[in-house]
Amino acid sequence: MVGEHAIEIGSVALSVVVPCYNEEGGIEELVRRVAVVCEAAFETSYEIILVNDGSTDATWSQIMKAVNVGRGVTGVNLARNHGHQLALTAGLHQSRGELIFILDADLQDPPELLPDMLKRIRDGYDVVYGQRVARHGEGVFKRATASIFYRLMGKIVEVDIPADTGDFRLMTRRVLAHLNAMPERYRFVRGMVSWLGYNQCALPYERDPRFAGSTHYPLRKMIAFALDAATSFSVLPLRFASYLGLLFALAGVLALGWVGYAYVVSGTVAGWTSLAALILVLGSIQLLILGVFGEYLGRMYMETKRRPLFLIKEIVALPVQSANPVHNLDQGLRARLSDVA
Ligand code: UDP
Ligand code: MG
Repeated sequence: MVGEHAIEIGSVALSVVVPCYNEEGGIEELVRRVAVVCEAAFETSYEIILVNDGSTDATWSQIMKAVNVGRGVTGVNLARNHGHQLALTAGLHQSRGELIFILDADLQDPPELLPDMLKRIRDGYDVVYGQRVARHGEGVFKRATASIFYRLMGKIVEVDIPADTGDFRLMTRRVLAHLNAMPERYRFVRGMVSWLGYNQCALPYERDPRFAGSTHYPLRKMIAFALDAATSFSVLPLRFASYLGLLFALAGVLALGWVGYAYVVSGTVAGWTSLAALILVLGSIQLLILGVFGEYLGRMYMETKRRPLFLIKEIVALPVQSANPVHNLDQGLRARLSDVA
């Protein structure tokens, strides 16, 4: 029961992957609701992978309890807190399903949308992502910052990352195989999936309030997340330095012209203030650019260490009772699940 977990790809139809950090109040309800939709769609051919991301509350014991109830739950216990995106990555690496369904543990993304997403997969899509048309139970600040984030990302990033989407999505194994093969440490999973291409479509939905607990994305983490996202998909901020340099060179030439003109017309321009202002402006712009370079350089440095992305302390699951890979997946869909190559 506890120990090595052989990953036999395709031994279940669906894997549900859920990163959990301090979610003790919601695990039971999460498993109940998810199991109902999974059973309706795939009978017993599914697994629910709950990844405990170094929680400091009773999340892991809640997960163990859920495992023992016997509704297809696998508990993955990380060695420490690795952060949302790496916890999700750990779960994705453990998943065996032909289809993969990513959820948040707080039930903000309704699992009941699975049949709608499944329908679109059957229509020929490889990724169906939830797109929020409304967010319930989230403050003005959260909504405003999220909105600015997605709009700004849209401006600087070369890949087309759809706005107002989280990691809530259903995707096929062939897309996941490529995603799992991407080795980067600073992961912005939704962007990486967009980058992969294939056929993707949106499913509009209304985001529910949290079932229990509170958000783990305070402003500090949101900024770090935004920086990871921006730096891993764009080098435009680096080019920004050249543009600014050009702009200031132009401004400098104009200012010099003006100073020369003033000298001829009315003598020297008096000024400690103007000099101080110039030095401050130029100095701060140089520091800012240095900071942008630093963001990239630091990430490059960390990437070169090639440390494992996450460490798993233990994996807990009941022995497999049923493994029926073709269950409820029609031939056409099955054929599409893995690349021909
Ligand atoms: N999460 C995680 N590790 C962390 C922070 C968050 O695994 O360090 C999980 C969390 O349990 C939840 C998901 O990531 O399932 C999204 O987090 P949250 O709901 O706090 O973000 P929000 O919905 O407020 O953006
Ligand atoms: Mg949430």
